[in-house]
Amino acid sequence: MTNFKYFNNPAKYSVHSKKPCQFCGENEGNLEGVYFEKGDNIQSICLKCLKEGKETVYIPSYIQERLEQNLNENNTLSEHDIRKKVISYIDELSKTPPVPWIQFNDWPVCCADFAEYIGEWDREEIIKNSKDKGGKKFLLEILDEFSKNKIDDFNFFWNDIGINTAIFVFKCISCNKFLAIAQSY
Ligand SMILES: [Zn+2]
Ligand SMILES: [Zn+2]
Repeated sequence: MTNFKYFNNPAKYSVHSKKPCQFCGENEGNLEGVYFEKGDNIQSICLKCLKEGKETVYIPSYIQERLEQNLNENNTLSEHDIRKKVISYIDELSKTPPVPWIQFNDWPVCCADFAEYIGEWDREEIIKNSKDKGGKKFLLEILDEFSKNKIDDFNFFWNDIGINTAIFVFKCISCNKFLAIAQSY
């Protein structure tokens, strides 16, 4: 099995292509190329070929800037070390299965690194993870600012989860904090 630092369970949470891997011919469990944001160049790739970097996911510059900013804030690292970490983490993320449906390949940062994608949560899953807080309150706590600012009516938003709204959940590798991104269609 191929493991990824930033993606917990690609077998369950990525979208699979029925086409063979265009690099090695593997037939099973390939990733759908459209989420790589590389146009028609990539149609189907297996996890192993992705891990080896035979093709990579497009990482927008705003994600790199977010990482750089966080490294600057969280660390006493030299500029040289920050540079080295940025290059290595971006390289790792570009060889990580993309989260299907997330616009602009968004990826949250926490504690000076990218967070790990743990899956899409429905209301039931959110409530289950909220302990005694209640699902709505918990969701508001873990949602990123950008997603939160787009919500007009929170009750409508909550009831729309699983219909036209999806909640993608990440977890910080260091502090274990949950970070959620919402997408409405
Ligand atoms: Zn392959
Ligand atoms: Zn953290």
